[in-house]
Amino acid sequence: MPPPPTSQDFLHRIWDALNRPRAFGSLLSRLVEPPAALHEAERRRARLLAWLLLTLILLTGVMLVLVILTDIVGDNRRGFYTILITGLVSLLVLAFGLNRAGRHGAAAHLTVACAILAPWGSIVLDPAIVRGDFVPLVYTVLSILLCSILLSVRTTVILSAIQFLMLLSLPFFVPATTFINWPSLMAFVFFTSALSIVDNFINRQDLGQIDRQIRQLVESEARLRELSVRDPLTGLFNRYYLEETLEREVRVAARNRRPLGIIIADLDHFKRFNDSHGHAAGDAVLRQVGAFLRKYIRETDFVCRYGGEEFVLIMPEASLQVMREHAELMLQEARHFHAEYEGQRLESVTLSLGVALFPDHGSTGAAVLAIADAALYRAKGAGRDRVVVADPAPV
Ligand code: GH3
Ligand code: MG
Ligand code: MG
Repeated sequence: MPPPPTSQDFLHRIWDALNRPRAFGSLLSRLVEPPAALHEAERRRARLLAWLLLTLILLTGVMLVLVILTDIVGDNRRGFYTILITGLVSLLVLAFGLNRAGRHGAAAHLTVACAILAPWGSIVLDPAIVRGDFVPLVYTVLSILLCSILLSVRTTVILSAIQFLMLLSLPFFVPATTFINWPSLMAFVFFTSALSIVDNFINRQDLGQIDRQIRQLVESEARLRELSVRDPLTGLFNRYYLEETLEREVRVAARNRRPLGIIIADLDHFKRFNDSHGHAAGDAVLRQVGAFLRKYIRETDFVCRYGGEEFVLIMPEASLQVMREHAELMLQEARHFHAEYEGQRLESVTLSLGVALFPDHGSTGAAVLAIADAALYRAKGAGRDRVVVADPAPV
């Protein structure tokens, strides 16, 4: 077993990826890829939030570097802004982690909370920055924009109202702000909020419609798939399903070193039955024999209508002895089984059954099925209404 990767290996891998553009692209796509367990609509939201958070983390990180290395905030405020921005980056990284863990609702709320916290945190802790300057207050709009992208219309309306009230009440707490151009600032916040609420509303409607259409598509695909593998008369699986599934079941059996039994059952003299009772009565018999056979299968088995009046039972993990007993039981009970048609109890129809087993009679599903078919043919030749188990393969 290879040794577990160390943190140095991990850093090397990131460094390698950064040096190769395509690898960097795939690293990024893997980073933003949401958990597979989420629904498609949730995955879309989680992916959008992941890209948004990466951008925010990158921008805030650049801000942090600028604050530390240049004097854009001045020497006396450098420590304070370093702590504030580091705190913000940490919260954004936490939101990114939550989003990756599939909790994109919590991550979205935390992201919006960061956007509220950033301007108001700096104003509360350092009111001097709004003395005569309304630019710091403009950042309050960012939280409304983010909210409109990530959360509901209702939450965006509520947040806009709260931001509006907080801005209006600011002159009472910081009298120096009385001198800034309030009408212009409030008009800006009002227009931005209104436009993002309208945009949010339209987007949600479009997304809702896309989600509904995707859901319908998934449902109709499942319905189509179900129709393509079912026999319409009996509701059993059809031959197409058998061919698709048998080899897979055989591979599973081979891997687990377990047997897999196949029984082919054919109704005896069914043509004669149709001739004397009519095709519709024959259909009723096929339908009811299908339900009758279904009673004999366990959860891991399956039964399908192989052809006109032929049925195949696949029984993973059953031994040859169990298969023989099973087939005998079906044979006995079929003799006393009477289908009903238009309130009439029809005469019973006997079965001929051929039994074969993987791996005793063949190494593929098709080979074992052919041997079971040959056994059925022998049952017919020997007088019908009987079980023939395939001969042991010559050693
Ligand atoms: P055997 O004992 O040799 O199997 O005789 P058989 O008459 O059952 O076999 P054969 O292959 O000669 O004929 C099969 C008959 O099954 C012919 C056909 O009318 C009937 N059959 C096949 N599919 C359907 C169906 O969907 N509905 C009805 N009612 N009959 C069907
Ligand atoms: Mg028949
Ligand atoms: Mg037949």
